[in-house]
Amino acid sequence: MASIKENLEHVTAQLPKGVQLVAVSKFHPVEELREAYDAGQRLFGENRVQELVAKAPQLPENIRWHFIGHLQKNKVRMLMPHVSVIESVDSVKLLQLIEKEASRIDRTVEVLLQLHVAQEETKSGFSIDEVLEAAEAGELTENLPHVRVCGVMAMASLTDDMEQVAREFDLVRRTYCTLKDGCFDESPYFNHLSMGMSDDWPVAVKYGATLVRIGTAVFGPRKY
Ligand SMILES: *Cc1c(COP(=O)(O)O)cnc(C)c1O
Repeated sequence: MASIKENLEHVTAQLPKGVQLVAVSKFHPVEELREAYDAGQRLFGENRVQELVAKAPQLPENIRWHFIGHLQKNKVRMLMPHVSVIESVDSVKLLQLIEKEASRIDRTVEVLLQLHVAQEETKSGFSIDEVLEAAEAGELTENLPHVRVCGVMAMASLTDDMEQVAREFDLVRRTYCTLKDGCFDESPYFNHLSMGMSDDWPVAVKYGATLVRIGTAVFGPRKY
C-alpha cells in the first residue's frame, strides 16, 4: 500500500496551478496527520468540532484547519479559536452567529457558503434560490465586519454517473459567478470554489474548483 506521503504527491502532481488540496483527516489519528504535515501538507479538513479541537493543539500551529461538516450553533464558540476557514456555512443565522463569536474574540474568520446541489436530502447547504435571495437582501455582505466570505463550497451527489456530477458542479460554478458579479463584486476575497472529493475531484477541477477536499485518496479508508 502507498504511504500517505506518496498519496499526497500523487494527488498534488495532478492538480493544476492555483488549485489547493485540503487533506480531509476526519477519523484518522494525529500520527497520520503528522505524516502528511511532514510531507508538506498544511491545509486539513475536519467535519466534527470536537475532533478538530482535540487534534489542533497536538499539531504545529501553522496548520490551517478547514471545518467542512454541519456546524451546530452551540459549537461555534468552541471552534472559533482553532479554525481558519468554515467551509460549511448553510444559513444566514449561522453567518450572523459566526460574526458574533468572531467579534467576541476579536478575530476575522474566513467562510464559504455551502450550496445544496446534490440529490440526497440529507446533505445541508443553501438552495440556489435561498442563497440568491440572501444575496439580494444584503444578508451575505452587510454587518459582517469579522467575517470574510471567500466563496462557495458544495458536494455532488453520491453516484457513479459523472454526467450528473458534472451538471451539479456546473450549477455551483454558475451560482458562484452570479454571486461574484453580484453582491460580492467589490470583494477582494470572494475567489474560492471548494468542490471535489476522492471520487470526483477531476470533474470538479474541470469546472473551476480552487479547493479540492480529499480524504480517502490521501489517508486510505476511514475506520469509523
Ligand atoms: C469526508 C468529506 C470529504 C472527503 O471525502 P473522501 O471521499 O474521503 O475524499 C470531502 N468533503 C466533505 C464535506 C466531507 O465530509
